[in-house]
Amino acid sequence: MSIERAADLLASATRAVAMTGAGVSAESGIPTFRGEGGVWTKYDPVKVSSIDSFMADPASYWQVSRERGRVALAARPNPGHVALAQMEERGRLVAVVTQNTDGLHQDAGSRRVIELHGSGRNVECMVCGRREPRSEVQARLDVEMPPRCQSCGSTFLKPTVVLFGEAMPATALHEAFELAGQADVILVVGSSLVVYPAADVPLAALRAGARMVVVNAEATPFDRFASVVIHGRSGEVLPHIASLIAA
Ligand code: NAD
Ligand code: ZN
Repeated sequence: MSIERAADLLASATRAVAMTGAGVSAESGIPTFRGEGGVWTKYDPVKVSSIDSFMADPASYWQVSRERGRVALAARPNPGHVALAQMEERGRLVAVVTQNTDGLHQDAGSRRVIELHGSGRNVECMVCGRREPRSEVQARLDVEMPPRCQSCGSTFLKPTVVLFGEAMPATALHEAFELAGQADVILVVGSSLVVYPAADVPLAALRAGARMVVVNAEATPFDRFASVVIHGRSGEVLPHIASLIAA
């Protein structure tokens, strides 16, 4: 069965890397972008999440971000996040490369987390560079829209996430490709694998000779390259795999 085959591959790996997307946090109550119930069935992504529209109209950005932030700040890791942290703890996983900005891998105990799209836990002033926790800005949104920088008064306060049209953080990208190039197993979880260059990370692992395991609720364009494909919920599948590796 595929869960056993995935566990076998990971149990014999020495440089396995996980690559996660929004799906791994779906069971924590954070909506994915695509797939069933995805937010992009409700909003136009370029309108809501591009740097150009943010700069043109920060208030509209924050109207949408306010609701997503409320959900993300209240979210807790689910058994899928916990299973990945356990695999790392037991030496079966070197690192988690994630497209997520919710910080839930770290909350679950994962130590080496590479955030390709930044972190939603902080907010930065684009004018003076002052940083503050997202939770503090979130608390001001009821009285101040858009929120203002408490140092310089600018209204260009942006969560430290990568918006469409922005460059990805070079250090994180470099580290992700380095890990992928050395991986013997790449475990892809909860990602539709259509956002580039993030989707290049598992491709780089494949090119370097890694075996691929895909755990996703629905089919992905990479399923045909995988040694094992498991269509299911990561909060159920990953703990099952982790328990077999521990045994
Ligand atoms: P995506 O929304 O494009 O795809 C999510 C995938 O997860 C879908 O294929 C869906 O079928 C699958 N999925 C849904 N529930 C699942 C579950 N319980 N178990 C396993 N799979 C499940 O997400 P993506 O590929 O990460 O790319 C979209 C972008 O969205 C990323 O750039 C990321 O930065 C951003 N994003 C992040 C968060 C977050 O931080 N939690 C949430 C939404 C979007
Ligand atoms: Zn400022």
